[in-house]
Amino acid sequence: MLFVSTRGQTGKVSAAHAIKEGLAGDGGLFVPQSFPYFSLETILGMHALPYEQFAAKILSYFLTDYTADELTECAAAAYAAGKFGPDPAPLRKVGERTDVLELWHGPTMAFKDIALQILPHLMTKAQEKTGSDTRIVILAATSGDTGKAALEGFEDVPGTEIIVFYPENGVSPVQKLQMVTQPGKNTKVFGIRGNFDDAQRGVKDIFSDESLENELKDCGWVFSSANSINWGRLAPQITYYFKAYADAVASERIKPGERIIFAVPTGNFGDILAGYYAKKMGLPVKQFICASNSNNVLTDFVNTGVYDKNRVLNKTVSPSMDILVSSNLERLLFDLTENDAAQVAAWMKQLNTVGKYQVSKDVAEQVRELFFAAWIDEQETVDAIGRVHNDFEYLIDPHTAVAWRAAEKYRLLSGDDSYIVVLSTASPFKFCKTVLEGIGKAAGLNENDPFEAAHRLAEETESTVPAQVTALESMPILHKDVIAAEEMAQYIKKTLEIIK
Ligand SMILES: *Cc1c(COP(=O)(O)O)cnc(C)c1O
Repeated sequence: MLFVSTRGQTGKVSAAHAIKEGLAGDGGLFVPQSFPYFSLETILGMHALPYEQFAAKILSYFLTDYTADELTECAAAAYAAGKFGPDPAPLRKVGERTDVLELWHGPTMAFKDIALQILPHLMTKAQEKTGSDTRIVILAATSGDTGKAALEGFEDVPGTEIIVFYPENGVSPVQKLQMVTQPGKNTKVFGIRGNFDDAQRGVKDIFSDESLENELKDCGWVFSSANSINWGRLAPQITYYFKAYADAVASERIKPGERIIFAVPTGNFGDILAGYYAKKMGLPVKQFICASNSNNVLTDFVNTGVYDKNRVLNKTVSPSMDILVSSNLERLLFDLTENDAAQVAAWMKQLNTVGKYQVSKDVAEQVRELFFAAWIDEQETVDAIGRVHNDFEYLIDPHTAVAWRAAEKYRLLSGDDSYIVVLSTASPFKFCKTVLEGIGKAAGLNENDPFEAAHRLAEETESTVPAQVTALESMPILHKDVIAAEEMAQYIKKTLEIIK
C-alpha cells in the first residue's frame, strides 16, 4: 500500500515513510491510495480476537511494508493489560438503545492513548525500515490530552526527543499537572501564551520552515508529528469502531448487519474520520453524529458547506475540543472529491489566507448525508452529566457528555431509534470539577486543588480515584517554561542543544 498527499504535490510513499514524516512535504496529509473492504462475516469473526490481534490485523492492510510479526509485536507492546486493563475498549450497556464505548482505560485516561501507545513503536520500526540514522523530534501541539498521551508513549524511546506545547490557560488542572510532571530524559513541555490554535499554527509553521529543517538535519535530527495528522496515529483508531460493532452483535444489542450510529465528541476530526474510514471499509454504519461544543465550526460546516474559522475561540468545559481548525477534515474532503488534490489544495489555501472556504454542492450534500452535526453549550453539557448519572448510575466526562447530548438531539429531531454508540473519550476523573457540578456536588470546592475534587468525586459516587491521578500528588514539577508562540523555534533549538 502506498500513500499520497491530499495536496498532490509529492510522490507516493510507503507507510513507513508516511509515519516517519507525519506531514507531507507539500503541507498535505498522507492518505492510503485505496482501502480494503471487509465482509460482515470477517468483521464479526474478529470478535474472537484479543484486542492487540484485532489491531494488528486492521493495521496489516495499510502498513504493508511491516511484517505481520512486527505489527503483532508493536500491538502487543502497546496494548498490554498492564497499560489498559483487560480490554482497551469496553462497550458498556447504558441506555435502552444507547451504549458507551469507553476509550480511556490507558495510562493517561484519554482515548488518545489507544493511538499514542502504539505510534512510537511504529515509528522506531519505520526508522529501521527507511534505513535512517537520524533521530526523530516529535513536536505536538495539544489542547490537553494529546500532549500527555504523546509524552507517555515516547518517554525514553531511544532515538527520539519529544517536545510538547500546550496553551497555558487552556487545559484542565489535571491535564496540566500530568504534563508538567512528565519524567523521561527525552521529554520537554512548554506552556504557550495563547490558545490551542496558536500552538497548532506554530507547530505547522515549524514543519514548513525549510531553513530550520536543514539546520536540524545538519545536527542529525528530523521532525515528525504525533498529532492526528500522522497516519500512524489515525489508523489504530479504526480498530475500535469494528470492535464495538462486533461486541454489540455478540452481546445481542444489535442484529448482524444492522446499521448503527456513532456519536463522536469531535475536535481535530481524527476520531470521527477513523469511523468514516471504518464505514468505507464495510462497517454497517448509518450515520455519524459530529458533536461539538460552542466552538461550532464543524456544526456550521456540516449544515452549510462553508468552513469558516473567523470567530473567537471559546474556552469550554470540554477543552480537548476547543479547536477552530480541524486538520483531518482535509482527508475527508480528499475522499469525497474522489481524490481531487488540486481542489483540496485550493480550499486549504483559502483557509490559510482568508480563513474560510465553501465546498461544492455535491460535497456538501455527501457531508450532510454522512454526518448529523450538533453543538452543545456549557449548561447542556453539565446537565447531561447529571442526567446520565441520575438515570443510569453512570458517570461521563464533559467531552462524552457533549456527544451524549448531541445523540439525544438527534433522536428528538429525527425520531430515529437506531442503536447509538457514544464514544467516551476521557475518564470523568480528568475533569472532576465539571463532573461534580453535573451531579450537583460542587459546592465549596477549592478551585485550585484538583485532588480535593478527585477525592470528593470518588466519595460521592462510591468509586475510587484512579491510580493515574493519585500518583500525580507526589510527583515533582519538572517543566515550568511558559513562552510566546513566536519563540517556539528558538526553544526547540535550545532543547536539542543546537543553540545555547
Ligand atoms: C482529542 C479529544 C477529542 C477530540 O478528538 P479528535 O480526534 O481531535 O476529533 C475528544 N475528547 C477528548 C477527551 C479528547 O482528548
